[in-house]
Amino acid sequence: MGRGAWLNVGNRGGGSNCATARAIEGKAARGFPTMTGKGRGAATTILRGQTLSFRADPFKVGPDAAVDFSSDGAVAIAGGTIIAVGPALDVIARHPDAALTTYAGHLILAGFVDCHVHYPQIDVIASYGETLLGWLAKYTFPAEARFAERAHADQTAHRYLDECLRNGITSASVYCTVHPGSVDAFCAAARSRGFAMAAGKVMMDRNAPEAVKDTAEVGYAQSKALIERWHGVERLTYAITPRFAVTSSPAQLEAAGALWREHPTTLMQTHLSESPSEVAWVRQLHPGASDYLGIYEKHGLVGPGANFGHAIHLTPRETARLRETGSGLSHCPTSNLFIGSGLFDLRAARAGDAPIAVGLASDVGSGSSFSMFATMKAAYEVGQLRGYSLHPANAFYLATVGSAGVLRLGHRIGNLAAGFDADIVVLDLASRPIVAERMRRADSLWEALFIQMILADDRAVRATFLAGRKAYERPALP
Ligand SMILES: [Zn+2]
Repeated sequence: MGRGAWLNVGNRGGGSNCATARAIEGKAARGFPTMTGKGRGAATTILRGQTLSFRADPFKVGPDAAVDFSSDGAVAIAGGTIIAVGPALDVIARHPDAALTTYAGHLILAGFVDCHVHYPQIDVIASYGETLLGWLAKYTFPAEARFAERAHADQTAHRYLDECLRNGITSASVYCTVHPGSVDAFCAAARSRGFAMAAGKVMMDRNAPEAVKDTAEVGYAQSKALIERWHGVERLTYAITPRFAVTSSPAQLEAAGALWREHPTTLMQTHLSESPSEVAWVRQLHPGASDYLGIYEKHGLVGPGANFGHAIHLTPRETARLRETGSGLSHCPTSNLFIGSGLFDLRAARAGDAPIAVGLASDVGSGSSFSMFATMKAAYEVGQLRGYSLHPANAFYLATVGSAGVLRLGHRIGNLAAGFDADIVVLDLASRPIVAERMRRADSLWEALFIQMILADDRAVRATFLAGRKAYERPALP
């Protein structure tokens, strides 16, 4: 990015190129995006607005050194790929024939990446009165049993993907159900709509109703067939998905580990140390294990590409081993608060020169919102309860670059940079009267981003692009 776009935060940085919130809010007239240039037939398109991208990890280098912000930036796209990001006048001069869309007063950034979500649970979001194990028995397993019916899976997959677009989510790591058809439905839907998605069949061979159980052998065989059918097809990645150490026997975990060894470019996702009662049950079910993570280690289920949901109640040994093995974590704060599971220690996970890879996740249906704004807000609130204030740079990083890294897709998605897939969200920074009013009183980029992460919702998502194609445009606000 051009140096002129570099933001020295507010008055604290003291530089001459300070972007203020007034710049972020935008002085240009708001309203419909304006299109100029060659229009629809052009091979190159340019999105112009305020742009935000990451050049480094803000947890390591601090917020100011981590981001590139341009108050008049542009993103050039060709063939579904970002080919340039920089000051608008530079990008436009280098691509004079491009079709130009200007989003005055809006912020353009990489699409959000939801690191852990259960698409079959969309219909049990906001269900009352249970903690983890009761939640699974009362709401989750009955809802997932319905996915034996392919038509239900097809229809739910599309409804889930609609929610993604409405919330600016362009990728996710998705738990399907035990039924292979639930994966076929999801992958077919995601493929047809151009999403980069990771997904897998849940493996469960005990402590669950018959309708949602497989066996170690069947779970292995079905997962293997699904890998062959979907892994690497267009923008899809397969995630081997033993649900957790309560519902998978040692034999099934061993089979999952063998499958991952045989298909090392796939991902592995599961749950880890979400609630105290779960941790206690796991200890009973796996006597002799050093701790919860030790069970997964024993069966070859740790390492880069392993994505552990929650990881709240960890021993020092587990934290150390997650770091040493290069495993990733999904922080699911709305779920942890809603279910009452506990408070994730983000500061400990991200401490030091070699922080654990952490992404941000909705964990719908026990998560209470699809919105990554709500998720960032809850992450902030969890941090406050642990004596730690999550900086907005860190929050936006976790929701984009962080999650992409956990999915081993950090070289292709989660950031605005040349060579990356053009998965992009355009945010309206004045999406409601209260937001607009509050933004007028902000005087730095960070304050402005913080206001967004606390107050914004799906109404702030003006447009969502998948591989350069506009897949969603917000209906006109009342
Ligand atoms: Zn989950």
